Amino acid sequence: MKYCSHCKVYIRGDKLQCTLCENSLPDTHDEEETLFPTVPLIFQSHLALRITAFISIAALVVSFALKEIFPSNINSPLFVLLALVTMWLSLIVVIRKRHNIAKTIMWQVSLLSILSILWDWRIGWRGWSLDYVLPISYVAAMFVMYITAKIMRLSVRDYIVYLLLDGLFGIIPIVFVLFDWITVYYPSIICVAISIIFLSAILIFEGENIKIELDKRMHI
Ligand SMILES: [Zn+2]
Repeated sequence: MKYCSHCKVYIRGDKLQCTLCENSLPDTHDEEETLFPTVPLIFQSHLALRITAFISIAALVVSFALKEIFPSNINSPLFVLLALVTMWLSLIVVIRKRHNIAKTIMWQVSLLSILSILWDWRIGWRGWSLDYVLPISYVAAMFVMYITAKIMRLSVRDYIVYLLLDGLFGIIPIVFVLFDWITVYYPSIICVAISIIFLSAILIFEGENIKIELDKRMHI
């Protein structure tokens, strides 16, 4: 176990940098358990993944059924499918990567947002990036973060700051609605609603952990 004299914490695993302040740690090379146990990638064995798979299929079926019952010119099953593919791809990437999961997710989301806006703009602004990509990826990120944290048995403090950050990202689409930058409103509205519910849940149930983590990160 390594010790960061700056943050006054012990860090498990053979890390070169402190996970909190990113200062380099003294090079004491001792063989010991790694931070994450080597979990074989047998997805079926995890209850959380089974539930996610079940919800994915159910959501897809329901969206197709709703489209048949209430015909509209918005191809909603396609967007449900898009959201599910995004979520599952991120889940797989994140589970395979394992290190600093929550941070990886935030990077994915930020890159995806910027790239989609650039792409949308390059091919003659049609607004699909703001209409769909941003809200869908913020919501998907929240679920991916929460599910992987459960599967990897992370302690709440390992990802709480990133969950908070993503929740705040998720409120951004309210700007698109207020300034009328979008043509399709429901993804943004759903995203903002879920984010506010998520944030309030975090603040109500994990307020103490947030305070501890922020205190730790602030004295960098
Ligand atoms: Zn440190």
